[in-house]
Amino acid sequence: MNLQFGPLARLLIPNIRFVMSRSISTGTFQNAQPLNYRGGKRVQPIDSVGQEQAYEPSTGRVIATFDCSGEKEVHEAIQSAKSAFKIWSQKSGMERSRIMLEAARIIRERGEEIATVETINNGKSIFEARVDVEISWMTLEYYAGLAGSMSGQHVQLPGGSFAYTRREPLGVCAGIGAWNYPFQIACWKSGPALACGNAMVYKPSPFTPVSVVLLAEIFVEAGVPAGLFNVVQGGAATGEFLCKHPDVAKVSFTGSVPTGSKIMEMASKGIKPVTLELGGKSPLIIFPDSDLENAVNGAMMANFLTQGQVCCNGTRVFVHRDILEKFTETVVKKVKKIKIGDPLLEDTRMGPLINRPHMEKVLGFLKTAREQGAQILTGGEPYTPEDPKLKGGYFITPCVLGNCNDDMTCVKEEIFGPVMSILPFSSEEEVLQRANNTTYGLAGGVFTRDIQRAHRVVAALQAGMCFINNYNVSPVEMPFGGYKKSGFGRENGQVAIEYYSQLKTVCVEMGNVESVF
Ligand code: NAD
Repeated sequence: MNLQFGPLARLLIPNIRFVMSRSISTGTFQNAQPLNYRGGKRVQPIDSVGQEQAYEPSTGRVIATFDCSGEKEVHEAIQSAKSAFKIWSQKSGMERSRIMLEAARIIRERGEEIATVETINNGKSIFEARVDVEISWMTLEYYAGLAGSMSGQHVQLPGGSFAYTRREPLGVCAGIGAWNYPFQIACWKSGPALACGNAMVYKPSPFTPVSVVLLAEIFVEAGVPAGLFNVVQGGAATGEFLCKHPDVAKVSFTGSVPTGSKIMEMASKGIKPVTLELGGKSPLIIFPDSDLENAVNGAMMANFLTQGQVCCNGTRVFVHRDILEKFTETVVKKVKKIKIGDPLLEDTRMGPLINRPHMEKVLGFLKTAREQGAQILTGGEPYTPEDPKLKGGYFITPCVLGNCNDDMTCVKEEIFGPVMSILPFSSEEEVLQRANNTTYGLAGGVFTRDIQRAHRVVAALQAGMCFINNYNVSPVEMPFGGYKKSGFGRENGQVAIEYYSQLKTVCVEMGNVESVF
């Protein structure tokens, strides 16, 4: 096992109980079942707003063709969720907890199957997909733990009167996900939603429709009422039917800033709360007193997981001028060694990008970077692995850009690919000003041995998720979410409960009504 993954691996690998043999290999998987899930079973949508195809990014093969759900299907899914909500919301927290723990157990049991499907449809390495599955069942375990302890406050009032608060579910929540962590995003949303007593209708990205249906099946097998977690498939049109439906009480969205803005606009018409987990262009600041090996490893973790298609990546790597040369040389050496290829192989650490248009977009960013004067220190080229079955895959070599400045497109915009930009700096004050000079605010990181500087710097960073001497470690216990245009609301941690529930205050009079009339 490559221990370059450091603390993340140490945190997660001991729990991996997967069987290493797989019956599916790259180039063989074909989805034959309906991908919508409603009322406890897979169904074909009753109406359609067009067809989509999902790919295996490592081969370019179509692995699923499906109808995008129309307004009627979305309505049916929401009605089915409404019925299930009546049953689920009446259960005690402990009853919900037991069922969620059972779902977590089944995810563990079927972990290798889920990870394999995720790798095939998303392209991330099986190593990473297993970590995603681990995080997924831990998420359900964590919120199962909280389900039984949700409680309100008791407030004493004059004359023996009192008030109490109740934390109540919202109703049917819509979950809309991105394609980079298809199964995990669905668990990050459904975990707290179900723990609070809600139902959910979930729409995954049309690029990755397959794995979330396994989650829907697992919930039912674990004992949730049929309809509590339904899946509708499709793109923007289907998502809009969901957001605009009057019976949807809340929308939790993970995706890009432009779509997030549309979601908020639609939700505003119905005065619905939203959670927005959006994009980023996060800074990672490396001071000259850092442990260089750790700083380099941190920069690798901040840029190359899931082929760089990670929202909170620290893609603007600010390196102090005193260590610029050494840092750059070491990071380039490591990046050149990243094993690219068949993502289902045990030792692969980088698979293909999600699809051809996205690959072309990333290559387009690199062309512009070159034109604007950035220097490609390594990578950034289309790549064809030796294995002939991978010749139609969307592989590119991981890239490090040098000679960057803050005005370049590659430094300002989210590339969402394996591209690290290195930016030299001279002082703390200067780097903080530059790090915060962005409309995004999802994450940020600092490497230094000076503890006072570490805390001073993260306090000044305008970002919702900050790392000191590490990067991209996101266990479920830690709240996750952005500042500025990276969104609002939080996933994970205890605080997520507040975003999936509403507070009722009950005032109880123990005496007579003192009327002023
Ligand atoms: P996207 O915005 O294109 O799509 C996200 C989801 O929204 C998809 O399911 C899509 O079908 C749906 N959608 C698109 N238009 C819609 C509309 N008008 N109404 C309702 N739904 C609509 O984003 P993407 O390309 O799937 O994902 C990449 C983006 O997601 C990146 O910007 C990345 O940073 C961000 N992201 C953020 C987080 C986070 O937690 N902050 C996590 C993962 C990805």
